[in-house]
Order: sequence, then C-alpha cells, then structure tokens
Amino acid sequence: MCLDVGETLIDETRVWAVWADMLGLPYLTLAAAIGATIAEGNPHQSVFDFLGVDDWQRLAPEVERRYGGFQAEDLYPDALPALDALRAEGCSLAVIANQPAQRAAELVALGVTPDVLAMSDAMGVAKPDPAFFEQVLARCWNPRPADLAYVGDRVDNDVRPAAAAGLRAVWLRRGPWGVVQRDDEHRAHLVVDSLAEMVERLDEVWAAG
Ligand SMILES: [Mg+2]
Repeated sequence: MCLDVGETLIDETRVWAVWADMLGLPYLTLAAAIGATIAEGNPHQSVFDFLGVDDWQRLAPEVERRYGGFQAEDLYPDALPALDALRAEGCSLAVIANQPAQRAAELVALGVTPDVLAMSDAMGVAKPDPAFFEQVLARCWNPRPADLAYVGDRVDNDVRPAAAAGLRAVWLRRGPWGVVQRDDEHRAHLVVDSLAEMVERLDEVWAAG
C-alpha cells in the first residue's frame, strides 16, 4: 500500500496559516481563495494569481523558515495508528508523494518509517504524471498494478492517475481537495473519510472492481 503525504498523513493547515500571515491576509480569506482555486481545477499555486500576489516565490524561503517543516502536531491523529495497523495486517508500506526532498527526513523524525519513502522533488517526477506512478510501482518492487493501492486526498492528482495506471485508488476525503473535488468518473475503488476508516475497510480495497 502506498500513501500520499499532504492531507493524507499531514494536516497542512499550519503551513497555510503561515502563508496567510506572510501575505497579511485573514486565514479565512486565504482558505476561501484556496477553495476557489481547487473548484476551478487550477494548481494550488495559482491561489497567488487569484489573490494578485505575483512575487510569492520571493516569500517562500521565509515561509519555510517560519513553518519549520513537518512537526508532530501536523500529523493527522490517525496517521501513525493506521500505519501501525496496516503493518500488523501484513501490508508493505510506501509513502511516495509530491513534496520537497527534505520532507522525507522530517517524516522519519515523526515516526513515519515505511518500507519505501520517496518525495517527488528528489524523484524528478511528480503527480499526476503517469511516470510518477510507474516510479511508484518500480520502487514498490513491481507488483501487479492491481495489487498495489494508492491512498490520497485528491481526485486529480491521486485517484484519477493512480486508477489510470491500474492501481487500486483509495480516495481519502479530507482536507480542501477532499471536500471540494468530486469523483464524477467513479474512479476510486474505495472512498473513506479517514485513515482509521480505511483500515477497518481494508478488505474492500482489494475486493472492489
Ligand atoms: Mg495530498
């Protein structure tokens, strides 16, 4: 089983709160702009275009300094228990996601120690590129695609491309994408609202379609 990071294991509220501070915006205003960007089907960086902030990349180093990388408080409460439960069920675990390279070590420091851990910036390929999912399969010892599940919160970046690559797609409906996006093509093999629910319904991942 391979899991995404943002809004799957890690609650990204804190980094967006840092961005709101840096932009001098109330958090709710930034959150609304993020929601609008998602609803329009645009990449999340275009939230800065939406807000008319063209020099946001200049602010990124200071945002990263204030954010300080992933902290224990950013882990969704069910993240580590779910990984433990999946391991107890005999699942091999991978965490491969669109993230800066340094997030891998930060995850390990928080106790996220899957068999395979890889971040897109270090891989040189990112979701939703089909090549990302080819890499996922290769790094997970090339199982039959249908024997590997990818768990993520986004329909556009996780569910749709994972299913297109022949993997089992588990849609975790939490975070901004989880509530705004719709799986109109019914590509997800399983839809859950938490990792705890996914652990309970693990058999359905493999039984579906
Ligand atoms: Mg995510």
